[in-house]
Amino acid sequence: MTSTALEVRLASRPAGWPTEENFEIAEVEVPTPGDGQILVRNVVMSVDPYMRGRMNDVKSYVPPFQVGQPLEGGAVGEVVAVGSGVSDLAVGDNVLHGLGWREYAAVDAKHVVKVDGSVAPLSTYLGVLGMPGLTAYAGLLATAEFKKGDAVFVSGAAGAVGQIVGQIARLKGASRVIGSAGSADKVKYLVEELGFDAAFNYKDGPVAEQLAELAPDGIDVYFDNVGGEHLEAAIDSLNVGGHITMCGAISQYNDAEAPKGPRNMIQILGKRLTLRGMLVGDHKALQQQFVAEVGAWIASGELKYSETVVEGGARQAPAAFLGMLRGDNTGKMLVTF
Ligand code: NAP
Repeated sequence: MTSTALEVRLASRPAGWPTEENFEIAEVEVPTPGDGQILVRNVVMSVDPYMRGRMNDVKSYVPPFQVGQPLEGGAVGEVVAVGSGVSDLAVGDNVLHGLGWREYAAVDAKHVVKVDGSVAPLSTYLGVLGMPGLTAYAGLLATAEFKKGDAVFVSGAAGAVGQIVGQIARLKGASRVIGSAGSADKVKYLVEELGFDAAFNYKDGPVAEQLAELAPDGIDVYFDNVGGEHLEAAIDSLNVGGHITMCGAISQYNDAEAPKGPRNMIQILGKRLTLRGMLVGDHKALQQQFVAEVGAWIASGELKYSETVVEGGARQAPAAFLGMLRGDNTGKMLVTF
């Protein structure tokens, strides 16, 4: 086995849009697993929008990345060595863990989840069957309290979370599923491949106008991945008693100044809307139900998913992350080693 390996560190904190200069690729000694640890050779890692927030030095629901230290995030890898005191994992096992952005990771065995590549491809544990999938499932069914017959609008609809939200809504009997995304190809994918009733490119014109045209009878649920103009448009289109899941606000993650915010908040009282923020970590109780239901839909072909895979490991991870922020991905953005 090699004695050195690459890891990606935060070189500096971005102001506004991050660039490659904010990252450093460092060569380090392959760690030795300590007591209760395993050594994992990463096979695939995730780049996620929330990581942009962790590049800022602000107090949030997850601590900021530290300048000069390796980044962290979801990854799946193969166990290549086992430290003392670990009895439930063996060399050759595949595990899901939180130390991506590096070729080798020494991880506490109690912080990993064993996964089976023969049940589902390893990448899916970072996407459709992983954190983004559970976000979609819980955010629609628990947070938005979706019910059969609801008309649903989801933004970021061709992304990791959005593509699953729209399909769960369809499979659970939505009266209409509408999505927005940032290119003509993505819009086509939503309607032709994933069975959305309608979709639009938010870059083609005002979101409020495009949404109103595609939802003449209004919407009952808005699953917000984007914030800003999308949220304002959804508030306009929501019917009385409608629900909003506030899952993300990616249109604002690289803003250097505070956003102006939806200007139509007054409608929330007139329409008695419910806006509820969600964090996927609060929904672990739904994990088993989620895997059973979504896994069955994948197996039957009723639910499809896309992945955009960047090869090249640590050296390509910053470019993959920046590409995801720009919208280069359809479905889950992943990096393979
Ligand atoms: P993703 O949608 O796979 O990737 C990000 C996408 O955002 C890009 O592909 C891009 O697609 C879109 N985007 C970038 N800038 C935009 C803008 N200005 N306006 C509209 N869309 C823009 O990412 P994801 O992992 O599924 O995450 C989606 C959202 O869910 C993010 O806001 C994320 O922070 C949030 N999230 C929240 C939780 C939670 O627990 N609350 C968990 C996971 C994810 P286009 O080509 O369509 O622009």
